[in-house]
Amino acid sequence: MLGKVAQQYSAYFKEFCEGDSGPEKAPVPDSLVRRSRDIKGAIYYFDGSHAGICKIPPRAWLAGQPKNDHQFAVAISVAYGRLPEADNLAKQWLEGAEFDVAHLRATEISTCIAGYIRALGFGATAHVAGHGGIDLDRIAVLAGIAERDGDQVRSPFLGEHYALAVVTTDYAMAIDSPLGKSARVNGLKYWLGINGAVSGREQNRQSKRSTHLSRYPMEQVKRVERPTTLIIDDEVPRVPKRANFFMRARAGDLGERAQREVSRFATKHPITAGMISQMQCLVPHQEGQVADVKSPELSDPAQNARALKSLAYHMGADLVGICEVPRYAWYSHHLDGEPIQPYHRYAIVMLIDQGYATMEGASGDDWISGCQSMRGYLRGAEIAGVMSEFLRRKGCSARPHTQADSDVLHIPLVLWAGLGELSRIGELVLNPYVGPRFKSVVLTTDLPLEVDKPIDFGLQYFCSNCLKCARECPVNALPFGDKVMFNAYEIWKPDVERCARYRITNQKGSACGRCMKTCPLNKVVSADGSVVHRVGTWLGVNARWLKPVLVPLAVFFDDWFGYGTRNSVKQWWLNLEVVDGVCVIPKATNERDIDITRDTSGKKTPVGYYSASVMPQPNARGSVPANHKGAVERAAELETVEEAKQRIARGGERPAHYIPTLSIED
Ligand code: SF4
Ligand code: SF4
Repeated sequence: MLGKVAQQYSAYFKEFCEGDSGPEKAPVPDSLVRRSRDIKGAIYYFDGSHAGICKIPPRAWLAGQPKNDHQFAVAISVAYGRLPEADNLAKQWLEGAEFDVAHLRATEISTCIAGYIRALGFGATAHVAGHGGIDLDRIAVLAGIAERDGDQVRSPFLGEHYALAVVTTDYAMAIDSPLGKSARVNGLKYWLGINGAVSGREQNRQSKRSTHLSRYPMEQVKRVERPTTLIIDDEVPRVPKRANFFMRARAGDLGERAQREVSRFATKHPITAGMISQMQCLVPHQEGQVADVKSPELSDPAQNARALKSLAYHMGADLVGICEVPRYAWYSHHLDGEPIQPYHRYAIVMLIDQGYATMEGASGDDWISGCQSMRGYLRGAEIAGVMSEFLRRKGCSARPHTQADSDVLHIPLVLWAGLGELSRIGELVLNPYVGPRFKSVVLTTDLPLEVDKPIDFGLQYFCSNCLKCARECPVNALPFGDKVMFNAYEIWKPDVERCARYRITNQKGSACGRCMKTCPLNKVVSADGSVVHRVGTWLGVNARWLKPVLVPLAVFFDDWFGYGTRNSVKQWWLNLEVVDGVCVIPKATNERDIDITRDTSGKKTPVGYYSASVMPQPNARGSVPANHKGAVERAAELETVEEAKQRIARGGERPAHYIPTLSIED
């Protein structure tokens, strides 16, 4: 059944194998090597296992004749995920479906790459198994990602456990040679990861972990009954979707410029322009028919949780946690003003790593920044979409909540599912192993599930003694001072208007994730990471009593070693901008590196607070201008954490600014 659902999702993406090219050719580099680096960089960024490029020999076309003038082919392989253990329910779900899941990923990547090349103004078509006009095996051999072994075509690294896709194009690139005899998994270079993304020893380490566990040892992190920051559950206001600042920008609350720019926010770079259709096509399938009969195998909450985690990791999630959905995590109203009644008890929360290597090469607010988000959103929507449909076919109500359409707020769920603690970045939960470098997707369901507990890895101490994200934010949207009580959360509250406005109207890049990029906890802590970072992370999680000594050292040396500056070796992408459908060289690009001399008093740029009482009405159709001056002045009405605790102890009333704006009466 899982294989069928994966096939169904592949079919959604196959709609985008072909399409119209941009009206004009983009000003791409003359260097064919540089073009190849860009395309292969994008494939590895999308988690393709191997990528190679070749010229297309006439005999590779299945019908004998090409339907177009494509002369180049990009071959992409995607390895199967790991098969769960024999006593894991997910084993029977996945057995026989591994190809379909890998095929879905190969279809996703190849349609995104074809869409990207078309956005550059060139012709491109994606071909996948059972859909396309090219001999996939032949191209894989010629492009050097597989080799012939008698009648079989195999990858020396993946055996026969992979799915293939090919993008054919008239976009000329440097080509690869077929594989030589030296390409073997037991080679020292492979084992040490020299010139490679993930070393053989790291792959070996991951393969030894249980399939329901992340590649990161989250089981070593201290578990606690409640999140480490105070949440006054009874007082947290539910908020309408209309209050989200991207929705506010669309409605004109942030002015004409932001309203104009938000409409092209997701398609500002040709890579995201080439993937937006794939994202949008999944939205109508977030809801669906639930089978009448519930599968009897799904009666044990612990087994269900274990199996669904294994399934999520098999499909490509990087971290998974489960919690009950608190009432305040549900949005209060849809965009049309219709109230939302909470409808599921449990949330499976999945994090998609945005990728260290690309972030290392970027400034955080240059032209790749928006792609980093969109890749995570698309991958999350795909994983949660397949899992939800699978559960519905098994008779359990389930729904994914994606960046494109969510009925729940993700931040409290990431906290309660034990995937991180609230950080100085404010409305961002930080994980001990991937730091702030992730996007989340949520699947809500009524299937009985064993839940995880929140975690405590000492982040409150770390962020209290580190200001790096606030110092490096280009628009001073993050606070330099203490946490406050905001809408009944203890939080370092960011200025969400300032942040959203910058991300939407950034003229020297797409979006922004600079706080994420420069955070000292944004590191690689797998076997491929530096020994210092691995030891530091282990001590941070397991030797908390050393924090008073370690944190100041970590903060100091992070700057001293220059972490947060760009690594040009990792800059695979092209700085391009899509303007009115045409791809051009941008007028400027953010070229920021860290600035340790910056004023960190925060006095000149106090943050604004948009409390529940000043949100737009849930059904407001016209613009409700955001009042930044008023938001800054609202600091005076906020409680400190201690004041809130004292008020609760004496039975004091909930502050008036926690009370949400009411809907406009008909
Ligand atoms: Fe500042 Fe950018 Fe982070 Fe927003 S995303 S808080 S603008 S660094
Ligand atoms: Fe916390 Fe420092 Fe990271 Fe900001 S940069 S989230 S203060 S650890």
